[in-house]
Amino acid sequence: MFDLTISALASLLRDRKASSEELTRLFLGRIARLDPGLNAFITVDEEKALAGARAADARLAKGEATPLTGIPIAHKDLFCAKGWKTTCGSRMLADFVSPYDAHVVEQFDRAGAVLVGKTNMDEFAMGSSNESSHFGPVRNPWDRARVPGGSSGGSAAAVAARLVPAATGTDTGGSIRQPASLTGTSGIRPTYGAVSRYGMVAFASSLDQGGAFGKSAEDLALMLNVMAGFDERDSTSIERPKEDYARVLARPLAGLRVGLPKEYFTADLAPDVAACVTAAIAELKAQGATTVEVSLPNQALAVPVYYVIAPAEASSNLSRFDGVRYGHRAADYADLNDMYRKTRAQGFGAEVQRRILVGTYVLSHGYYDAYYLQAQKVRRLIARDFTQAFKACDVIAGPAAPTVAFPIGEKTSDPVQMYLEDLYTISVNLAGLPGLSVPCGFGDHGLPVGLQLIGDYFDEARMLNVAHQYQLATDWHRRSPPGIG
Ligand code: GLN
Repeated sequence: MFDLTISALASLLRDRKASSEELTRLFLGRIARLDPGLNAFITVDEEKALAGARAADARLAKGEATPLTGIPIAHKDLFCAKGWKTTCGSRMLADFVSPYDAHVVEQFDRAGAVLVGKTNMDEFAMGSSNESSHFGPVRNPWDRARVPGGSSGGSAAAVAARLVPAATGTDTGGSIRQPASLTGTSGIRPTYGAVSRYGMVAFASSLDQGGAFGKSAEDLALMLNVMAGFDERDSTSIERPKEDYARVLARPLAGLRVGLPKEYFTADLAPDVAACVTAAIAELKAQGATTVEVSLPNQALAVPVYYVIAPAEASSNLSRFDGVRYGHRAADYADLNDMYRKTRAQGFGAEVQRRILVGTYVLSHGYYDAYYLQAQKVRRLIARDFTQAFKACDVIAGPAAPTVAFPIGEKTSDPVQMYLEDLYTISVNLAGLPGLSVPCGFGDHGLPVGLQLIGDYFDEARMLNVAHQYQLATDWHRRSPPGIG
């Protein structure tokens, strides 16, 4: 039963073949047994989870269920959840208990999903390997000596190891798609503005977007149906009619135009990953899609531009952690300035401090025009490249990550190598577009590879349709890591 999708579990619940309490106990048991070897969770709360399950069972009994009612889920530990520790993977917030719910948390609660725990992540969502967490690295269920990707590595590993059927994540530069690729899970980052950022601890506000991990594209559609929608508490939330993201899942792919950016298929892409992605594209063609070469001429500038803009926004967002309002405060200090200095030096890890320094530098007088303003201009060009490309195609396909999962420790001493993990994901964030990754095979060492699909603004339903049709014809998404049975 632990291997079933949300949609399969929902029909078991509806047909009374299982109760939410049984399901919740099953997954809590799996977490207790398997998570010590994975470290995917920062917090698990059995009592709250079982109370949620009983409430869901009562709702199911009354026939008032939604597709998510009674389904155990986990949230990345940067979504504020009332009464739950919300740490952001940082010492700074290690003891912070949120007094309110994020919009996303509220929406899942309202749908009757059962929150079992909060997942591990790179500190303040900065990273591609989940090694920068104050709570220790997450291990990849496919090979525990390797990273699960990041920054939503805990959510990805939890879904891959079947510790929960689905989980939330956030994607500022690739943090859903890259870990989905490295763990053989399905993950979607929606269009910027589709999911409210209210109550999501901010990293880089113009790039951050909440999204979901699941075992299939169909499950991602069900999750998005719950998460997405206008929220007036987020000034960048877009007011659009509520849509059903599952509405075109069944549409055949005949006539679909798939764009292949020539800048994606170069020597930067590991041959084993290229082979899987190429085979996946052949499958889309076999189903009647046509391919067209497109070009994203500014692709090579995406990583450098991101590493100006994201740290700039982070340096501003993280200034709120000052030891006064919430979170860690140094125990001994001479005066106010000394308190700020010590609190922030102790509370933030090395990568977060590096970003704050870079961000402060590029925003400082004299460097603002040379770095920040210039980066904003190139960001516009990157977005324009996609607009051009979408004139010739309906979706863009390519790799989600340049390699399979790498060994823990391999890239920690070289930040630039780590930053390059997001080579194929970051431009999507800079443009504000939606992207997803679905499993498309196994590369070196038998490790999972993800196919990335990028859609035009608010075209998630079509991307999910393509991913679903691909999953009807393949079984990569059904494979699970050895030793998790
Ligand atoms: N890996 C990128 C970074 O370190 C993206 C992180 C994210 O998407 N949250 O900033």
